[in-house]
Amino acid sequence: MHKALYPGTFDPITLGHLNILEKALPLFDKVTLAVADYTGKKTLLSIDERLQLCREATAHIPNLEVVSFSGLVVDFAQKMGCRIMIRGLRAVSDFEYELSLALTNKKLKQDIETVFLVPSLKYMYLSSSMIRQLAELGADMDDLVPPSVARFMMDKFTHHSVSG
Ligand code: ADP
Repeated sequence: MHKALYPGTFDPITLGHLNILEKALPLFDKVTLAVADYTGKKTLLSIDERLQLCREATAHIPNLEVVSFSGLVVDFAQKMGCRIMIRGLRAVSDFEYELSLALTNKKLKQDIETVFLVPSLKYMYLSSSMIRQLAELGADMDDLVPPSVARFMMDKFTHHSVSG
């Protein structure tokens, strides 16, 4: 059985992440989406918010598990019985970072492989940080995130600006 882990911060999940997920699903027997609880990165959304949005956005996908993890991703992959970790590769900008991450993970655990998937062209320049900026500016993001994420982000920023 080929089990794959798709780890990330998902702050928040976008249609780019879902695009990678859709490409991964037919390739593996089981895919688990793993939301990083603490990675040293300061996140806008809490772990509970990020998990909830990932669960809502993938509710229509049978056989997909959404979990959170903390600590080393390779340890978590091993614990879950996943020998493969999926990462998305966008433009050139991702390459250096993703390659060094993959090589570091490989050094930590030799028997876990990183598999890179390339998104459809229209998601090539989409990132969670872009979504956070659009939400802050009150811009439309309907073609970029699932409807539940668009609602959540609008709500969060409207309340923020009202309260000061
Ligand atoms: P991390 O903080 O681990 O980089 P992200 O949630 O930003 O977490 O991304 C998780 C993975 O999904 C990364 O491999 C990232 O390159 C990939 N990814 C994010 N957005 C896209 C996108 N629009 N298209 C393809 N891959 C993406």
